[in-house]
Amino acid sequence: MAKARDTYMVIGGCGFLGHHIVQQLLARGDSVCIFDLVQRHFDVPFYSGDITNVDDVSSALRKSGTSCIIHTASPPAGLKNEALYYKVNVEGTKSVIAAAVSTGVRKLVFTSSAGVVFNGADLINVDERLPYPEVPLDAYNDSKAKAEEVVLEANGKDGLLTVALRPAGIFGPGDRQVMAGMYQVYERNQTHFQIGDNTNLFDFTYVGNVAKAHLLAADKLDIPPPAPPLCDTREDALLAED
Ligand code: NAD
Repeated sequence: MAKARDTYMVIGGCGFLGHHIVQQLLARGDSVCIFDLVQRHFDVPFYSGDITNVDDVSSALRKSGTSCIIHTASPPAGLKNEALYYKVNVEGTKSVIAAAVSTGVRKLVFTSSAGVVFNGADLINVDERLPYPEVPLDAYNDSKAKAEEVVLEANGKDGLLTVALRPAGIFGPGDRQVMAGMYQVYERNQTHFQIGDNTNLFDFTYVGNVAKAHLLAADKLDIPPPAPPLCDTREDALLAED
């Protein structure tokens, strides 16, 4: 029997990444609406509200019949407003989960950030098993880490399946942070500095690919993972053959 298609709500869908997600969902024929503070796009049904108000979120979820939330909302990085980060990212995400559970939403995809495990020291060949740093880089990244924990903690409870994705720097059409920051460096005549020995690396991902990752995560969320392999590595497999 064919799987029923989800009805999507993109929270923060008027933002840079959020709107690319909306456009990709539309392009593949899915039903999608936006929940955001202010309407900036008029291509899909829009619900105005603040995620820190659980009633705003549950009322929009009920009216739209949403079965899958993609939650991309956050204040931008780099603000000097710790309280806002904790209010929107931590308390707001808790209220998204509460509203999702009370309205029977089945799936929640959360946009976290690669910065949740970064404290200024090099990270080489790490994966998602790396713990959060004891001293977070800043309030933005700390609030994203705490939100991510809340989202993952909710997985498999009250009928809700959750996943968190950690993009690094995102570039592409509509970007208001990454290129603006680089341009500011140029405008301030700061381009003649070199930090390190010119071998530093940082990940940037094209916004279309980050958006696609969100769709794939949503699609796979209710598919049980494949059975674990009998052998962990090729070396184990060869030993088993002996
Ligand atoms: P953005 O600022 O373009 O979009 C965020 C959207 O969230 C905006 O439309 C804003 O109005 C909305 N929003 C903010 N507070 C809200 C609230 N209280 N209630 C409802 N809506 C609210 O940001 P973006 O660059 O598209 O980032 C999207 C997500 O990706 C964020 O969660 C961010 O932390 C994460 N992220 C971004 C980058 C990047 O390089 N841009 C990198 C890593 C992670």
